[in-house]
Amino acid sequence: MRYSRFFIPTLREVPAEAEVVSHKLMLRAGMIKKLASGVYNYLPLGLIVIRKVEDIVRRCMNEAGAIELLMPSVQPAELWKESGRWNYYGKELLRIKDRHDREFCYGPTHEEVITDVVRSFISSYKNLPINLYQIQTKFRDEVRPRFGLMRGREFVMKDAYSFDMDDAGANISYENMRQAYCRIFEACGLKYKVVDADTGSIGGSFSHEFMVLADTGEDFVISCDSCDYSANLEKAVCVDEYTKSADELKPSEDVETPRAKTVEEVAAFLNVPSASIAKTMIVRVDEKLVGIMVRGDHEMNMAKVKNYFSATTVELASHEEIEEATGGPMGFSGPVGMKVPVYGDFAVAAMVNYCVGANLKETHTLNVNHGRDFEFADVDDFRNANPGDKCCQCGGKYVITKGIEVGHIFKLGTKYSASMNATFLDNEGKRQPFIMGCYGIGVTRVAASAIEQNHDEKGIVWPVQLAPFKVCVVPLAVKDEEVMKNAEVIYNTLNRMGLEPIIDDRDERAGVKFNDAELIGIPVRITIGKKTLEKGCVEITVRKTGITEEVPVEGCTERAAAILQELSQNC
Ligand code: ATP
Ligand code: MG
Repeated sequence: MRYSRFFIPTLREVPAEAEVVSHKLMLRAGMIKKLASGVYNYLPLGLIVIRKVEDIVRRCMNEAGAIELLMPSVQPAELWKESGRWNYYGKELLRIKDRHDREFCYGPTHEEVITDVVRSFISSYKNLPINLYQIQTKFRDEVRPRFGLMRGREFVMKDAYSFDMDDAGANISYENMRQAYCRIFEACGLKYKVVDADTGSIGGSFSHEFMVLADTGEDFVISCDSCDYSANLEKAVCVDEYTKSADELKPSEDVETPRAKTVEEVAAFLNVPSASIAKTMIVRVDEKLVGIMVRGDHEMNMAKVKNYFSATTVELASHEEIEEATGGPMGFSGPVGMKVPVYGDFAVAAMVNYCVGANLKETHTLNVNHGRDFEFADVDDFRNANPGDKCCQCGGKYVITKGIEVGHIFKLGTKYSASMNATFLDNEGKRQPFIMGCYGIGVTRVAASAIEQNHDEKGIVWPVQLAPFKVCVVPLAVKDEEVMKNAEVIYNTLNRMGLEPIIDDRDERAGVKFNDAELIGIPVRITIGKKTLEKGCVEITVRKTGITEEVPVEGCTERAAAILQELSQNC
């Protein structure tokens, strides 16, 4: 590629709208341009990187035996009504109507469509298992699109769906995908972690997320400092490690707590630790209201609440619902006299003489005790794990890190096949629903994550595997015949060697060219200048280390190839 004929609209200024590094650098490097909130043009340089991710994904999926197809992005509402998701999916689903007033949506995912394809053509166990995938543009009307390609509304996803005749087969398909995903993220040169993930209300199944570890991640990963346990915060198990104190129960009393609303404010006002307060949240589980109690210094975990009740939706109750459940105003809920069942976290079940909301404005009750003042309907794990908590697997300590979810694999079971009547005949001639799995990779998010993990103050430092060009050939004086002749020879040789070079043939100052090469993150630069040429040499600079070496013109391309080889092995 010739820089002068290519289109890389780099920016000198850091765009104000961008918060995270990958977003800033993608804009500055001329890789993307925003069209609307969460909707981006993939400019040529950005597209090359996206295609590289796609190529790796495609190769690994094909090697794992999955078969590529392409489904439409516009999907008829009927299919979503069959699966029951039309009403349930909410505002993330972009709903549209055609000229005949028929309802459609722009696909955020394709379980319905693939299930419809498979039920139309596969009717015998003899054709199973099968795993079909596509690489395609999705649309999700995210509440907060942000961070550029990291959380777009329109984005590219690889989604795969497996169909098996029985549970054992489905587990094999799942494991096959888990391994393929590991190969994909390794091939992309990313440092990642596979973590246990929440399966939501589908139940019985399992799920893993693939997290790229980065400070800008929106997900929290809990891992153990002594064993291999790793889980999304939503899922990380808190063990019941508490023993109830044998302290004598004191009589309870109401105290006024003016202007103190949050746990911290109440704790400061009463001069007690947050851990001696228990907070009560009123939650709507599907249609039902319940109270959930966690210790003052803990956070309630909605995913755990949802799973406990096998619910479809879980939401914090409204003002009116809180009044209905407690008889008191929002912000002062407590378990005593509550009109709905109260569930306690393990940590609360071990407390004695604690402080709770009194269901009265600006009032709390001291020395409350369950068993005496109220009863728990049940006790379970309802809170987020904290760093330092005991590991559920080995008793070690939890640590917390941030991660970007780049992939998600999920054993679905018969959720879609049962609701959409997708069946096959088993070897005894009986109709059975397919056992399904689904597997997603955020292709555009992978490109952004690679930048989050690989950058410095000058710009992007692409892992060789994803670099849009592997070598940048920089002739310092484009008007000098000797310099240009050598640069062209080197460029052509690199091209023949498949090293994907770009030659910066622009009539620009050296500084400008170097800055751009560094900003767009080309792993290796070969600089051809008059002075070094007089010695029969060129300079090779490695983007990652900044180290420059002088090498003879003869053999400089081999040296570049060797450096690239080394870089890709060290990723
Ligand atoms: P998130 O929790 O980040 O919203 P999700 O659980 O909704 O993700 P899935 O439905 O599992 O995501 O989609 C599969 C993959 O698609 C994700 O692992 C992620 O890499 C990618 N993805 C999901 N939403 C977006 C988005 N808004 N922008 C870019 N990539 C996305
Ligand atoms: Mg999402």
